[in-house]
Amino acid sequence: MLEFLETMQLLSARPVVESREAALRARIASFEAKFSRKPHLAVVLVGDDPPSVIYTTKKAQDAQRLGLAHSTHRFAATSSVQEVRAKIDLLNADPSVDGILIQRPLPAHFKERDLVRWVDPKKDVDAFHPELLGSLLLGFPSLISCTPLGVIHLLEHYKIPIAGRVACVVGRSAIVGKPMAILLQSRDATVIQAHSKTKDLPSVTRQADLLIVAVGKRALIRAEHVKPGAVVVDVGIHRDAAGKLSGDVDFESVSNVAGALTPVPGGVGPMTILTLLENTVFAAESSSR
Ligand code: NAD
Repeated sequence: MLEFLETMQLLSARPVVESREAALRARIASFEAKFSRKPHLAVVLVGDDPPSVIYTTKKAQDAQRLGLAHSTHRFAATSSVQEVRAKIDLLNADPSVDGILIQRPLPAHFKERDLVRWVDPKKDVDAFHPELLGSLLLGFPSLISCTPLGVIHLLEHYKIPIAGRVACVVGRSAIVGKPMAILLQSRDATVIQAHSKTKDLPSVTRQADLLIVAVGKRALIRAEHVKPGAVVVDVGIHRDAAGKLSGDVDFESVSNVAGALTPVPGGVGPMTILTLLENTVFAAESSSR
């Protein structure tokens, strides 16, 4: 166990978060000095799904800790689509609100394909709006989905080269896998996108110098999936009955093969939360120009 730690680099979020938070605090202070208000993140929570309540509380605490204004707008699980939509419309129109986040998952009567168009793309800090995915694809500056952008910031902090390398993204969701692949491609990686219908996954993932895993299956990726020395980023988050967190990557076996690996917890998760706050400040700066 200790032997691999001497050779494998642990890509912990902590130093990245520390240095980026310092830069973000400075941006927030300069925004406040200029506009006499703090950038404001509004979170909409429908129902009382326990993990969603925990995530929403954590986002509020982090926003306040860094000096952002924050508001949470809670609705009962039985609230109508029209009622919640009306609140989003009000937040979209409110000039004192810079970023809006709808906490997922929502009760089943809310349809994701409709929801993604509700938040004004200028305030959509999750960057789920189709217009924002289009902007990302075409390289226009705009809000970018928090998890993939956080992964890029993590790789940049550790000076991990992307250009010219073979990157494999496992997973093709609209919020992680697809934007992740676009971001890597725009930084000149040769990108392979693997997914649930990929045949012989280990032979595909073993081609990658950079392996990003966002699947949602605990310990799917084992040593046999990893090219020796590859950089492996684990986006997955799973909580067992005892509350212990783990990822889509089998840390124990992969750490014997990989050159660098993100931990779970303490890897991609904190980068996602930080990027949400950075996106709120980006939205505030962009709208006030
Ligand atoms: P999703 O369910 O929307 O997408 C999963 C993707 O995995 C799909 O594109 C599917 O094709 C692919 N897939 C499923 N089974 C596969 C298999 N056997 N082999 C290869 N590909 C397979 O999930 P998501 O929203 O992209 O999230 C993925 C994971 O990342 C989840 O565990 C989620 O909790 C986690 N997540 C973590 C963060 C974070 O901040 N760390 C943020 C978002 C999501």
